[in-house]
Formats: sequence, C-alpha cells, structure tokens
Amino acid sequence: MQVEEARRNNPTPEMKKIAREEGVSVEHVLEKVAAGRIVIPRNANRENVGALGIGEGLRTKINANVGTSPDYSKIDEEVEKAEVAVEYGADTIMDLSIGGDVDRVRNKILSAVDVPVGTVPIYQAGLEPSEGESVVDMSSDDIFNAIRKHAEDGVDFVTVHCGVTRETVESLKKKGRLMDFVSRGGSFLAAWILHNDGENPLYSEFDYLLELAEDFDLTLSLGDGLRPGCLADASDRAQFQELFTLGELVDRARESGVQVMVEGPGHLPLDQIEANVKIEKTTCDGAPFYVLGPIVTDVAPGYDHLVGAIGGALAARSGADFLCYVTPSEHLCLPSLEDVRRGVIASKIAAHSADLAKGIDVEWDEKMAEARENFDWQKQFELAVDPEEARRLRAERPAELDPETCSMCSDYCALKMVRDYLDEV
Ligand code: SF4
Repeated sequence: MQVEEARRNNPTPEMKKIAREEGVSVEHVLEKVAAGRIVIPRNANRENVGALGIGEGLRTKINANVGTSPDYSKIDEEVEKAEVAVEYGADTIMDLSIGGDVDRVRNKILSAVDVPVGTVPIYQAGLEPSEGESVVDMSSDDIFNAIRKHAEDGVDFVTVHCGVTRETVESLKKKGRLMDFVSRGGSFLAAWILHNDGENPLYSEFDYLLELAEDFDLTLSLGDGLRPGCLADASDRAQFQELFTLGELVDRARESGVQVMVEGPGHLPLDQIEANVKIEKTTCDGAPFYVLGPIVTDVAPGYDHLVGAIGGALAARSGADFLCYVTPSEHLCLPSLEDVRRGVIASKIAAHSADLAKGIDVEWDEKMAEARENFDWQKQFELAVDPEEARRLRAERPAELDPETCSMCSDYCALKMVRDYLDEV
C-alpha cells in the first residue's frame, strides 16, 4: 500500500523511481503521497506496470481513452490504439469498452501496455445486469462485483461516479440545464436513481468501496457525472454540488489510506478554467485533479483535439495534474488509430507547455533551439514531439536553393543572414 508506506516514512521502490525520473526528492514524493496530493496508480496484483506519480510538483500526465463500442468492437484495433497511444506519450490508458467481449478487451490491454490502466466498471455492471436487461436493472451487487472483477484483473484505477446522488439529481431536475448529462457513467446512475427511487450505491456504500480499493491498492478516480457538456452549462450549481460531495469523499478515502483523485469538467470557457481548478484544489484538499480537455468552445467538431489542448494547457498551468486527451472525433464517432495518435500528441503538447511555465523540462526546448540555430535537422527530428510528422513535412517541400535551410525562406533564411552579417563585424 503506497499511502501506508508513505505514512510510515518508508519509501517504496515506486516512490524512489518517481523521484528519480521527475527530478524531485524522495521526501517530496513521500510527503505528498502520505497527504494524498500525489497518487501512484498501481494495482497490487499487476506486475507489468511501471511507477507513475500524478500530482503536486510532478510533470503533467496525460491519459488516452480507448475501447470498443456496440457499433465497433474489434478487440485487436483497440489494443493497437492503446499501444500507439503509449508509443506517442500517453502516461495511462483508460479502457472504456462497451461493445463485444469487454472482459477480453480489458485483459488484452492490461497485458499489452506497461502503463497504469483505468476502467469505468459501472459500464459493465449496466451492460450485464444479473437480472433484467437495462442499466436501471443493475443491482448494487452488480456494481461492486464489476469493480472487484476489474481490480482482480489488475486494473490500476477506476472511475466511480460517487457524487451523482439523489440530491444532485433532484437539484438538476429543479434548475435544469441545456444538456442534462454527457457523462455515460453519470447517466447510468442518474437513470438508476430516478427509476428505482434509490440512492447511488457508490455513495451510500462508499465504505464498502473503500474496503475493496484497499484490498488491491486500487486508486479511485471520483468521476464528474454532472460535468457540463456545453459552455452554457459550465460552472453551474449541479456541477459544484457534485464537486463538494466529492470533497467529502476525498476526506473519507484518505482516512482509510485509499488513493483518490478527482475528475473535472468538461466544457468550460477559458475564463472559468483557473477558478474551476482552484475550487477543486481547495474543496478537495489538493487531491490530484484529472480533467477532460477542458473543451473551450463547442463549435469545432473535427478539431476538438486542438480545442481540448487549449483548455488542457490552461488547466495544467492553473494546477490540474492529469489531462484526459480529446481526439478529433470527439462528439462525432469512435476514434480511429490516427485520431488516437493526434489526440495524444495534442494533449502532450498541452501538458508540456504548462510544465514549461512551471519550470519543468525547460532543457528540452533549449536543446531544440540549439539544434535550430545549428541547422541540425536530425537533432530537431529526434527532439520533436512527433518526429515522423516533422520528417515528413521537411521531405515534402525541401529547400532547393540552400538545402541547409528550409523552403519557408530558403536563401533568405533569417537565421543565416543575420549570422553572416554578425560574422562580418
Ligand atoms: S529558412 Fe526561414 S523558417 Fe527556415 S530555418 Fe531559416 S529562418 Fe527558419
């Protein structure tokens, strides 16, 4: 148990590795893990997973979602997406499968990648209720059995929408929104609450959930079932009511020594991002903040990877710790392999841009500047976030007049011209 060891002041091999790779002290990692401000998602049953820290003072991490849908359920394609996402820099993978043999997809992804893997077990509980056919027929046992099954398989973190409660759903009904629910798991639970006139088992039996998490050192990612799905609903009462509930659950998880992070919006205009991050940090006592995007405009389908990167950079700059990527197919269809690659790269750029502003990994950009100044194209490719694309573009329109430069200015290359004159002085 990472928290238990940290509280005993006993650094685990994972804590030492994280400190080394992130360039921070072991004491920093120990202190923050003990306080719940850094999480190390790592299932006690999983062997092929590296050490990854998410939280205060560390690099911004990025997640890539993959997974089947009822329309597209080719397992090997989803595994390949997971592998490509990791190749391009995803720190974690979430398997959100809801089509075909979801147990098989999950287990193949767990074997294929060595980064932490997360899931949303409520999907499986809703798809396969022990009695009945609909998500509203799932029982409390179905929900917890799905969580246990995922944990036994080695899943490192699970999204659990514990803050979708009767109270928040009632409040949403009273006040209304332009788009009620855009969270799949949140909608399963809201439908269940309304149909059964009961309380969300993930909330009413939260202590049992904590016991389950303790058994596997499973990290809980408290889902934002009421995240706004459009700018018109951003920062509304329902969103914050859920967040305040999550803050209370963070306290209870920490008392049990369970690692916990908090998920956040969603669709937010740029001017509301910083406030949202600060409020999460204060109400959830510094728990790592995991944001989807955020999406800063609703009108760019096909380019939402860019929209998400703009929001993600500002969120991370404001203190968010973990960015969930967005692909160009967001709001349109299940992403292709190429969409996954583009989504990861966009998110990676957002995370790195924010890290630079925090003084992290500054040397990377300095090396690139030196390579540019020296016209060292190979070095530039090596340092590029996407070497393949950089190579492809340079080869597509080479500089004919002065091959050392690029065809943008060619023999009017500003770098060369100034250097020639400076050399004459
Ligand atoms: S040709 Fe222009 S764009 Fe290309 S390296 Fe020189 S200054 Fe930069």
